[in-house]
Amino acid sequence: MSAPVAPAAFPSLRIARDALTPLGPFAEAQAAFLRPDARAVQELDDLLRDRNVGVVAHFYMDPELQGVLSACKWPHIHISDSLVMADRAVDMAKAGVQAICVAGVDFMAENVRAVLDHAGFAAIAVYRLAAGEIGCSLAASAEAPAYAAFLRQAAQTPNSLHVIYINTSLRVKAHAHRLVPTITCTSSNVVRTILQATSQVADLHLWFGPDTYMGENLRHLFTAYAQLPDDRIRALHPAHDQASIRGLLQRFHPFQQGNCIVHQLFGPAVAQAVRERHSDALITAHLEVPGELFALASQAAVEGRGVVGSTSDILGCIVDHVRAALRQPGPTRIPVVLGTEAGLMTSIVLGVQAVLRASGRDDVTVEILFPVAAEAATADADSPLGVIPGASNGEGCSTAGGCATCPYMRMNHLDGLLDALQLVGTPSAALEALRPRMDPHRVAGQTVAQLGSVPILHMRDFQRSGRLSDVLVTEVTGRTPLRMSLEDLASWPMLRA
Ligand code: SF4
Repeated sequence: MSAPVAPAAFPSLRIARDALTPLGPFAEAQAAFLRPDARAVQELDDLLRDRNVGVVAHFYMDPELQGVLSACKWPHIHISDSLVMADRAVDMAKAGVQAICVAGVDFMAENVRAVLDHAGFAAIAVYRLAAGEIGCSLAASAEAPAYAAFLRQAAQTPNSLHVIYINTSLRVKAHAHRLVPTITCTSSNVVRTILQATSQVADLHLWFGPDTYMGENLRHLFTAYAQLPDDRIRALHPAHDQASIRGLLQRFHPFQQGNCIVHQLFGPAVAQAVRERHSDALITAHLEVPGELFALASQAAVEGRGVVGSTSDILGCIVDHVRAALRQPGPTRIPVVLGTEAGLMTSIVLGVQAVLRASGRDDVTVEILFPVAAEAATADADSPLGVIPGASNGEGCSTAGGCATCPYMRMNHLDGLLDALQLVGTPSAALEALRPRMDPHRVAGQTVAQLGSVPILHMRDFQRSGRLSDVLVTEVTGRTPLRMSLEDLASWPMLRA
């Protein structure tokens, strides 16, 4: 197998207060979507208002759709990470919308549905933007027999807690929680969740999945913590010191076969190119990226010029650096390596320009570097631009660079949203096909949505109080091995695969 080749140059997008300057076809395509057609904006705005429908969209959404959504005046539109999408959907329901359209992948739509149901808004319809399945490679890896085997091992180990990434289906969460006490996490709260859980339960075995790179990155992070003096570790979490972090590492079990196909291509060639050509840049990396880029961004974070974390962490870090630059006199250019899906760029541009406009300064600029091959754009007759961002090989990925676009998110289109809105309020089989695909089975007498929401509620408890709930701790310490009966196990679709 040939060694990975570093791309010759990364495409980039320079963001000034009132202007965008793209370099390379990939960036040009991204930037063009930020100047959406006024008629398309008006049409969508009018339809949303007329049908009284809210839209929640993920940061990684198709840039054309994001561009138009961002230009609409209708107030019930929100673009964020998956957890906040569901919260904002509840806010929209409280404000009186009659339906919510979800621009994301299927587990996000079912999460929105379940959270609305919990909040007492079962009557508010939820629609996806495509009739077919909108999958996710990471969510799928938790549906595989290997994950069931991983959880069986956890179930047979005393004092086990399963920490599952939010990017999974309710079905997996339900079955997993039936087998092992389970709490969900996001890339924003996973470190705090693990530190807190291991401080509340002595000798806790922690099973993390399904993202393997994230699990291994967490192991590296905790290994680095274990080298710190005790007072610095206690500043991270007051109940921990070197000895407790070493104990945590001995009982930390990340799943080894789960990847996001987008982030896994931010591999060694990308890290090498960043190291060689952009060592002065702000280096950002999602927790899902492979170890080389994670290490680079972690080191940069220690030096105050980078971040590893969630999409919201990356966005916040960039905006914070802009604010810091504005506190200084004189022109500043802030180069930023974007170590995540390129769709985040829409929110970055809007966030940076809002701060620059509020300041009145036009001498601070941000240059977003997309770690993909410079020529990564593909001819597409359906696109108004004639091209879409991303190389044609590997579904929007470039083997010469990273993989900055998610093919699943790109199954959501502006046309799909417009079509759905036209149908809202009328009896229609086509509209029914857009409803979230809720698993109709029952697990331990509860619906998949009910039981699958329990790990999410445990996470919300933790976010509210800073502690794992007594109920969850009792489940971890007081349970009998193999909580799931053999009949339950036999009904688990993953095990029949
Ligand atoms: S970027 Fe795409 S493949 Fe990766 S976790 Fe998100 S939805 Fe799944």
